[in-house]
Amino acid sequence: MSRPRLMIPGPIEFTDEVMAQMARPTPSHVDPSFIEVFGQALEDLRKVFLAGPDYQPFILAGSGTLAMDSAVANLVEPDDRVLVVDTGYFSQRMADIVRRYGGEVTLLSAPPGETITPDQLRDALAQADYDLVTITHVDTSTGVLTDVRGMTAVAKGAGALVIVDGVCAAGAEELRQEDWGVDVYLTASQKAIGVPPGLALLVASPGAMAKWLGRATPVGSYYSDWNHWLPIMEAYEARKASYFGTPAVNLIMALGVSLRQILDEGLENVFVRHKRLSDAVKAGIAALGLSQVPTDHAHAAHTLTCPRYPEGVDARLLKFVREEGAILAGGLHPAIKTEYFRIGHMGAVSRSDVLTVLGAVEAGLRRAGYAVEPGIALAAAQAELA
Ligand SMILES: *Cc1c(COP(=O)(O)O)cnc(C)c1O
Repeated sequence: MSRPRLMIPGPIEFTDEVMAQMARPTPSHVDPSFIEVFGQALEDLRKVFLAGPDYQPFILAGSGTLAMDSAVANLVEPDDRVLVVDTGYFSQRMADIVRRYGGEVTLLSAPPGETITPDQLRDALAQADYDLVTITHVDTSTGVLTDVRGMTAVAKGAGALVIVDGVCAAGAEELRQEDWGVDVYLTASQKAIGVPPGLALLVASPGAMAKWLGRATPVGSYYSDWNHWLPIMEAYEARKASYFGTPAVNLIMALGVSLRQILDEGLENVFVRHKRLSDAVKAGIAALGLSQVPTDHAHAAHTLTCPRYPEGVDARLLKFVREEGAILAGGLHPAIKTEYFRIGHMGAVSRSDVLTVLGAVEAGLRRAGYAVEPGIALAAAQAELA
């Protein structure tokens, strides 16, 4: 029997080319061939975020949480005032990290399934002065998409730096880091970027680097400190050997392949493909009579879908769906954890994945005792894709 498709919000299904690269013999981290791959990956990461040559990329061994830690450890000083735009589980984690480095957190919280609008942010920023605003581009616990462009414009207007957690968005959702003025945009390898777990990826603006350079206090984390990593990133980009901590060599080789695949498809095409496939999944879920956690289609992410279980169905559904061909994730937001499940559709996702997952959900629902007309979700998705 073929293996079920992994359709959770990360890790995702990776391309054959990426997996083949992972299997190659590990070169020395100072081998000229690897130096070239690392240098090119740094340049391509900037391109994928649509950031100019004066933006500084970092590629670190670690998960997305390390990317968050790296941004905050370097940009937040004790007593800095940080407004955390809170759209769910990962915004709360960002707040915890800011507190750990001595920042003073104010939460601007949306109820589960809602987002925060630029107008709400403007009102909050009028109440006090903030050094920094953090935003979660796609909240993976609710499937909510936040208007990073509008929010960043408001935050910059109020003189704050902006950190965006794009772990469930980069490489899928529209992002124009430089045009939009985002100071640090960060992600991890295993989501839409399309590389097995283990890389933390960040790109910092000249303004972010200036705030870091102007610090009055040392960075409170040894591993995350950009004093260690900036010279390394600069060296590899200049195609020179350098060492602080051994880079994740095979993962970086695979990253080189996946960033190239994204750029070869074209970013605009990548954004449109994710929108279309997401609309098809959401149409299929709606046809099954299931509602979704985001309260409005206009602020629903294109990287995942968060359907609510129908009456009489619970998390046992996921076991049936797995047997029908797709691995899905359960709920994550603590307030509504048992009420919904999550379908990831990002990265190298295709029409056939969409049809596979909807077919599996349909069959799973029937086995869970929920009556659905055979083919109804697939028909709705096909109509959306036509
Ligand atoms: C997955 C995710 C993270 C955490 O990434 P890890 O690689 O699991 O540490 C952070 N933020 C968002 C929005 C995520 O989706």
